[in-house]
Amino acid sequence: MKYIVTGGAGFIGSHIVEAIAESHEVIIIDNFSSGKQENLSMFAEGVSSIRGSITDLPLLNDVFQGADGIFHLGAIASVARSVNNPVATHETNLTGTLNVLLAARDCGVKKVVFSSSSAIYGDEPTLPKREDMQPVPLSPYAVSKLAAEYYCNVFSELYGVKTVSLRYFNVFGPRQDPHSEYAAVIPKFITRLLNNKPPLIFGDGKQTRDFVYVKDVVRVNLLAMDSSATGIYNVGSGQSIDLNTLARRIAAIMKVNLSPVYEKQRSGDIRDSVSDIRAAKKALGYQIGYSLDQGLEETIKWFSLLKSGIKM
Ligand code: NAD
Repeated sequence: MKYIVTGGAGFIGSHIVEAIAESHEVIIIDNFSSGKQENLSMFAEGVSSIRGSITDLPLLNDVFQGADGIFHLGAIASVARSVNNPVATHETNLTGTLNVLLAARDCGVKKVVFSSSSAIYGDEPTLPKREDMQPVPLSPYAVSKLAAEYYCNVFSELYGVKTVSLRYFNVFGPRQDPHSEYAAVIPKFITRLLNNKPPLIFGDGKQTRDFVYVKDVVRVNLLAMDSSATGIYNVGSGQSIDLNTLARRIAAIMKVNLSPVYEKQRSGDIRDSVSDIRAAKKALGYQIGYSLDQGLEETIKWFSLLKSGIKM
């Protein structure tokens, strides 16, 4: 098979490439705005990467020729950046997705698996989040993901491009960037502890999140690609944990005795989040393969090796 991975040099995209590279032809399209060349360093033959943008429709029309499926992850993946620059987020996340769908249609690609986000649920308090709940997008990022889901549905209905939108909750794992201002909490906790600094928590630490290990996210992408199902599915672990407990768990695995320090809650942070994953289980055969501790252990190991300068 020939697969395209947009955003394949990024955190999640590079794990998808890793999973499919051995048995398929893979082409990555990435503008390397947050993706990194080093995320691709382990891939040998069978994988080619194109430095280009999903906003470039002629490029997509060229590269998508003969492709069997598109894993579409290319995006400005940050709520904060979208608040600072809504136009850039709109162009990449929404116009970019429309371009991916148009090129898929015109090149006869059978399936597009789109990386959406739980951000579309906003702060409506009902838990767990189910796909049929009313979305409450609270940022340009969430609007772009929700509108892109609608485009995916429309392209399935109107043009026969089969699409699946996967609403990720908090994905974590090796290669997640701990250094950006907008980095996720798990790589931040781990790198602070590796540097003998206490985990930093914004607010009282009682806020809850649903963390899902990146390899489970890869698996559901592959299931979605192979399945005849279309539509929108949550991708989380189906369980939540508060940040105080999470910080203690990570410190215990790392055998470090450092309690969290607290700063003022950030505006716009939601209080609680947890997914209902029954729809993905039923339609796609999604199963959680990694417990939180297993995922944390693999992630901590990776960051520890990185710190000691060992190439992975
Ligand atoms: P990431 O920033 O590591 O990956 C995004 C990739 O897209 C990067 O490699 C970036 O260079 C690339 N990109 C950006 N603009 C592009 C453009 N115009 N053309 C081509 N490539 C472009 O982020 P990630 O965490 O790996 O996220 C992957 C996808 O999953 C994104 O669509 C994101 O919105 C979504 N998502 C992630 C999470 C999470 O917890 N990490 C949660 C919900 C949704």
